[in-house]
Amino acid sequence: MTIAVFAGSFDPITNGHINILEKSAKIFDKIFVAVAYNKNKQGLIPYSERAHIIQESVKHLTNVQVDCFSGLTVDFAKKHNANILIRGLRNTVDFEYEKQIAQNNQILAPHIQTVFLTADPEYCFISSSGIKELLYHNADISKLVPEPAELYLKNYAIKDLT
Ligand code: ADP
Repeated sequence: MTIAVFAGSFDPITNGHINILEKSAKIFDKIFVAVAYNKNKQGLIPYSERAHIIQESVKHLTNVQVDCFSGLTVDFAKKHNANILIRGLRNTVDFEYEKQIAQNNQILAPHIQTVFLTADPEYCFISSSGIKELLYHNADISKLVPEPAELYLKNYAIKDLT
């Protein structure tokens, strides 16, 4: 059984993340989406809400489970018997950044491999920070995030940005 972890901030989850998860769900037996808690970076959406939004957004992927964690991603992976870390790549900037993290993780946990999956072209320009910028300007984000994220952001987050 191949168990993989897809970790990130997901503030908010975007259609780019979903693209990577849909590919991953066909390759790996089980995937944990791990929402990383960072006490120095509160973000826009509270962590428990982020997990709930992701859960609602991946209902169609039966082998995907959502969890929150703090600390090292490799420790989360070990705890869940995962030996794959999934990372999504949009461009060469992502690759340079992600390669460094993967090499650090290789030292920390040699039995855990990082697997890079490339985003389909229509998702390569989407980022969580870009979504927040668009929200700030009251723009339509419906083509960029899954519906549960859009609904949450419309109802709750907008007042935190203004
Ligand atoms: P982090 O704070 O770790 O960068 P993110 O939530 O921004 O967390 O991203 C988690 C993972 O998803 C990273 O591997 C990132 O490269 C990937 N990712 C982010 N946006 C996209 C996208 N539009 N298409 C494909 N992968 C993406």
